[in-house]
Amino acid sequence: MASETESSTGYEIVIGLEVHAQVLTASKMFCGCPAVYADTHPNSSTCPVCLGLPGALPVMNAAAVELVLATGLALGCSIPDYSKQDRKSYFYPDLPKGYQISQYDLPLCVDGNLHFLSGGEERVAGISRVHIEEDTGRLLHRSTDTGTEESLVDLNRSGVPLMEIVGEPDLRSPEEARDYLEALRQLLRYVGASTGNMEEGAFRCDANVSVRRKGDAGLGAKAEIKNLNSFRAVQRALKFEEQRQSQALDAGRPILQETRGWVEDRGVTVGQRTKEHAHDYRYFPEPDLPPLKVDEATVATIRSALPELPLARRRRFVEVYRLSESEAALLTTEQPIADTFETAVGSNPTPERARAAANWIINDLAGISAQRGTPADTLPITAHQLRELLDMIDSHQITVRAAKELVVALEPDESPRDGAVRLSLLVLDDRSAIVEAVEAVMVAFPEAVQDYRRGKQAAIGRLIGETMKRTGGRASPDVVRKELQAALASDCAETRV
Ligand SMILES: [Zn+2]
Repeated sequence: MASETESSTGYEIVIGLEVHAQVLTASKMFCGCPAVYADTHPNSSTCPVCLGLPGALPVMNAAAVELVLATGLALGCSIPDYSKQDRKSYFYPDLPKGYQISQYDLPLCVDGNLHFLSGGEERVAGISRVHIEEDTGRLLHRSTDTGTEESLVDLNRSGVPLMEIVGEPDLRSPEEARDYLEALRQLLRYVGASTGNMEEGAFRCDANVSVRRKGDAGLGAKAEIKNLNSFRAVQRALKFEEQRQSQALDAGRPILQETRGWVEDRGVTVGQRTKEHAHDYRYFPEPDLPPLKVDEATVATIRSALPELPLARRRRFVEVYRLSESEAALLTTEQPIADTFETAVGSNPTPERARAAANWIINDLAGISAQRGTPADTLPITAHQLRELLDMIDSHQITVRAAKELVVALEPDESPRDGAVRLSLLVLDDRSAIVEAVEAVMVAFPEAVQDYRRGKQAAIGRLIGETMKRTGGRASPDVVRKELQAALASDCAETRV
């Protein structure tokens, strides 16, 4: 019997995702042209190889192969000792050669899986393969001044290295698909294999989706959804497809195996073409590139250089630093932030130190970065600055309040100690100045003084706050409290006498 939380339609959605990620290399897959194409003049980063001119010969980019291997290993794939490149033939104006170099039957990495969290639980989805391919150029469609339509070709992207990560149809809800994608992107960023930037097209997703009656083991006819440009688009498009296909089956209409495009502003998918089959592309081995032989030593070297992966690091943060699940998740989202945290707390930190560093990063520093619009993997201060700042707070050289002022104004290479001196933010250890402020506050707020003396202990909070204000937040709150308590008690005594 279906549970209440599942779709009431009696159908189950089956999703497999194919991700194309741009491999983070300096040059293209088969030539020396720069692989960065944003903000470059159209067709300026090109050469005979990536323009597909007759007689130009491709040469494999070793760095791209290593990054794809690293990704495959991080995904637990096996690395066959032999793989090859193939030509995938089709015509499109952004593909000057008339074929794309890809991998067909012998990919670089096979049979892996992705561990990820969804709905608070660990899931595992199969990865059938990770293979290398080259990107195509781009078409720009626009209207001219005279009102006619024109299409322009830019080949700066032609030949940029891509990897295709093909997932098994193991995902069972749009939410799970989104969690899988976010985890995959995070893993790619940890490995350093891709920026995973979706807006810039460095991380693109196609979704294969079908529905079947709950309890059925076979797979229904699937639609391949394209043009999914954000995590949100993926989730919305899958929800739409789940409904569309379920309704079609209920009405007795067959599901076509086809390619459909997601139309963001209308929130629908529309049929584009009936889906091609692999044999339509006339794949055949690329004669201009030798097969790739990956030996065990190379695999071992790349494997040993892999970083601790996001899920493992997140678990370790909970266990070692006693952080909550959500704190650990936030701190490990971006590898540089997790590194900053660990450098700032040092080895064998106390739980208090770990909590303080976590709070500073999550609540204060990430907030400043967001305000400034800097990338999510950067913080306004370095790990060493944070470490020194925490030391200063622990040894009462600066108050938390003054420290918050300091982090906003700290220069990139400045030590927090120097910054605090420059900005006069060190703790006020001049007792007479604090006593003076306390006396002034007691005169200025007689009601609070009276309340306290009548036994309303909480009234001292107001007086502490006002005294802190008068010292520019630089007096230690503990010292202020002691001085206030002393002053209130002795005044009492005097009055009684
Ligand atoms: Zn080139």
